[in-house]
Amino acid sequence: MRSPRRCSRNGCPRQAVATLTYVYNESTAVVGPLAAFAEPHTYDLCEPHARSLTAPRGWDVVRHEGEFEPPPPTTDDLVALAEAVREAARPAPPRPDEIEGDPHTGPQTGRRGHLRVIPPSH
Ligand SMILES: [Zn+2]
Repeated sequence: MRSPRRCSRNGCPRQAVATLTYVYNESTAVVGPLAAFAEPHTYDLCEPHARSLTAPRGWDVVRHEGEFEPPPPTTDDLVALAEAVREAARPAPPRPDEIEGDPHTGPQTGRRGHLRVIPPSH
């Protein structure tokens, strides 16, 4: 479990709802929705601090317009979601009609291994 993310400003006890990212090569400070993962040059901010942020001299501020979203679901929910997405993205097992091969290329060898089709006896 991870503790709730708090504003990164010294002494600020409020919960973070936004992430400040410094884009150094564009001299831009971006205040956007709370990032899912902490990265270098990013700082979590509470809403008052996100709204009141001012850029350093020579920098621009790009601020997310509108309401900041509430914090994302807990880590457990995120893990469950990620696993569900991975499960959905996993290739489906081959269907029986694909294993049988198609009439143009003949039966595919290798998949069925030792299995053989035994014609019915009369
Ligand atoms: Zn704050």
